[in-house]
Amino acid sequence: MAEKVIIIGSGPAAWTAAIYCARAALKPLVIEGALTEENRLAGTLPLGQLALTTEVENYPGFPAGEIGAYLDAGIAADRRRLMAPSGKEGVSGPELMELMRQQAINFGARVITDDVVDVDFAARPFRLSASDGNTYQSHAVIVATGARANYLGLPSEEKYKNRGVSACAVCDGALPRFRNKPLVVVGGGDSAVEEADYLSKFASTVYLVHRRDELRASKIMVQRATTNPKIEILWNRTLAEVLGNDKDGVTAARLQSTVGQPDLEQAATGVFLAIGHTPNTAFLKGKLELTAKKYIKWTTAARTYTSVEGVFAAGDVADDYYRQAVTAAGSGCMAALDAERWLAAQGL
Ligand SMILES: Cc1cc2nc3c(=O)[nH]c(=O)nc-3n(C[C@H](O)[C@H](O)[C@H](O)COP(=O)(O)OP(=O)(O)OC[C@H]3O[C@@H](n4cnc5c(N)ncnc54)[C@H](O)[C@@H]3O)c2cc1C
Repeated sequence: MAEKVIIIGSGPAAWTAAIYCARAALKPLVIEGALTEENRLAGTLPLGQLALTTEVENYPGFPAGEIGAYLDAGIAADRRRLMAPSGKEGVSGPELMELMRQQAINFGARVITDDVVDVDFAARPFRLSASDGNTYQSHAVIVATGARANYLGLPSEEKYKNRGVSACAVCDGALPRFRNKPLVVVGGGDSAVEEADYLSKFASTVYLVHRRDELRASKIMVQRATTNPKIEILWNRTLAEVLGNDKDGVTAARLQSTVGQPDLEQAATGVFLAIGHTPNTAFLKGKLELTAKKYIKWTTAARTYTSVEGVFAAGDVADDYYRQAVTAAGSGCMAALDAERWLAAQGL
């Protein structure tokens, strides 16, 4: 029998959509992603991008406080046992995601731990194929498969993630370790300049490292970078290694020259990668309209409609601009309401 709505994904957008769909008696089925080595390496394990970070200080509702007892009471014991001990600084990314998942389950969402590898949106009800060979049918689908930040793939980058290496200035820039300290931003496009500009509010100096002698960013962003007294551009350089130690995390970046100059060791307490994001849309190629950057295209302003009626998109998979947990959750709510209204209009 076909489901009323299947939600694909497991970040803030998916769980929020699941909470709303469950409370609207749509009995949502969430396909949350698979626990595979491939997904671990890609940064797409279940619970989404926030599961890869430590403190989340900008999600409303979690001031600094003792959250341990609340987690003990709120999270099923078998999953609570697997969680790292909680601190007192508000909520961590994994904690926030476990809370959202549990809230959706409490209202009746069912969860399948697998990847959707193919979809058939030409037939109705829609058909989804999972990596274990199972297929699912559904009248409506909410795609909330998110995106992943691109990294260079250096071992030292991996070693210092959450200890000075970050791919999100808005998320991490205000953390104490970055305040009044030199920081490195890697990239040369608009978002690299935006990250550098944002970080310049906190840092002593932001070193923008770019592999060419000209930024790819738009004219206005280039002007912003070159006129900001706290941004220094290091031209013709690439990040070769993040340097640090166990006690302090990141302490410097070794920067290679692309024009034959000697390596430069730049002191920094943070290295921010701003080399783009990859939306998790490979399985949707040819099935839904995507943008040039492969994000799902929202076809109507202020709605979560896609190019296929009955398929809705929420979160970072369709949003290459805001990319925050709270905006993903907000569009998850919108997608659930859009799906509910669409199903009602079909008499389903
Ligand atoms: C290191 C880091 C720190 C961050 N810190 C903050 C912060 O402090 N505050 C903040 O607001 N934002 C932060 N962000 C951004 C925030 O995490 C994202 O904006 C948010 O998680 C996007 O949510 P989402 O629901 O769209 O999807 P995601 O969180 O991207 O999750 C989607 C998940 O869906 C699953 N999935 C993907 N493909 C499939 C498939 N084919 N089948 C089934 N499941 C699939 C995967 O498990 C994937 O991870 C941070 C991001 C990163 C990388």
